[in-house]
Amino acid sequence: MNAVPVVELRNLDLIYVTDREAVLALEGLDLSVYSGELISLVGPSGCGKTTLLSVIAGLIPPSRGQVLLHGKPVSGPSPEVGYMLQQDYLFPWRSILDNALLGLELTGRLNDRSREGVLELLNGLGLENTADKYPHQLSGGMRQRVALVRTLATNPDLLLLDEPFSALDYQIKLQLEDLVVDTLRQRGKTGVLVTHDLSEAIAVSDRVIVLEARPGRIRSMYRIPEHIRKAQPFYAREESGFNELFHEIWRDLESQEERGNRN
Ligand code: ADP
Ligand code: MG
Repeated sequence: MNAVPVVELRNLDLIYVTDREAVLALEGLDLSVYSGELISLVGPSGCGKTTLLSVIAGLIPPSRGQVLLHGKPVSGPSPEVGYMLQQDYLFPWRSILDNALLGLELTGRLNDRSREGVLELLNGLGLENTADKYPHQLSGGMRQRVALVRTLATNPDLLLLDEPFSALDYQIKLQLEDLVVDTLRQRGKTGVLVTHDLSEAIAVSDRVIVLEARPGRIRSMYRIPEHIRKAQPFYAREESGFNELFHEIWRDLESQEERGNRN
C-alpha cells in the first residue's frame, strides 16, 4: 500500500520510570495501520496493550522512536483520535445526553447541529428515549453504547478501544461487537481494539497482532481471510477456517506463557 498510514509506529520504546524502578513496557514496535482497517491487539496481561493505546492517543510520550498520525508526529491528545475504555466512565450526575455531549463540550464544538448529530447517533445505536435518563437507569450494554456515542460524537477518524466489551454478558457482547464493527465500517473509521478474547479479535478484525510481554514486543501478525472479515462478527465464528486460525494463534499465545513460566 502506498497510502499514508493513519497510525505509524517507528521503532517505538516506552519506559515507565517510577521511584523504585524503570520498566521497559514496549520495545522496538513497528506498525502501520491503514485507513478503514480494524486491527486487534492480543497478548498476556501486562504486555503493554493499554500502554500502546495511550501512546497512540498522545497521552504518554514515547521514550524512543516515533508515533505518527497521518504522517505527522503525535505531540498530545488530538480530536482526530477517540479513546474508549472498558469501563464506561459516564458521570452519574449527568443525563445520558449530557454525557454523550461531553467530548463536544470539552473541545468547544457543541452547537445545535452537533447536538442534533449526537441525538441521531443515540437513535442509531438503539438508545432512543434515553437522552433524559441517568446512567444508573441503563444496563451495562446500554452504558457502553452511550460511551461509544460519546467517542463517535467528536467524529474522530481513529478509534482506540480498550477491552470495551469485556465487562458485558456474552450475548450482549456479541451484539455490541456487531454494532461497533458495522458503525466503524459504515463511517470508514480506522480502529485499534484491545481484547483478551481471541475469538472476538478474529471475528471483528482485518489483522490480529500478537504481543509478547516483558518487554512488550510484536510477536506475530495474522491477516484474517477475506470471507471471515466480510462476515458479521456474530457469524464469522462459524466460517470455515475460523477454528483452525483460532488454534494457530492460541498455540502462539500459549507458547509464550510456557516460556514465561520457565523464566
Ligand atoms: P496490558 O494492558 O497489556 O495488560 P499495560 O499496558 O497496562 O499492559 O502494562 C504494561 C506494563 O507496564 C506492565 O508491566 C505494567 O505493570 C507496567 N505499567 C503500566 N502502567 C504503569 C505506570 N503508570 N507506571 C509504571 N508501570 C506501569
Ligand atoms: Mg490493559
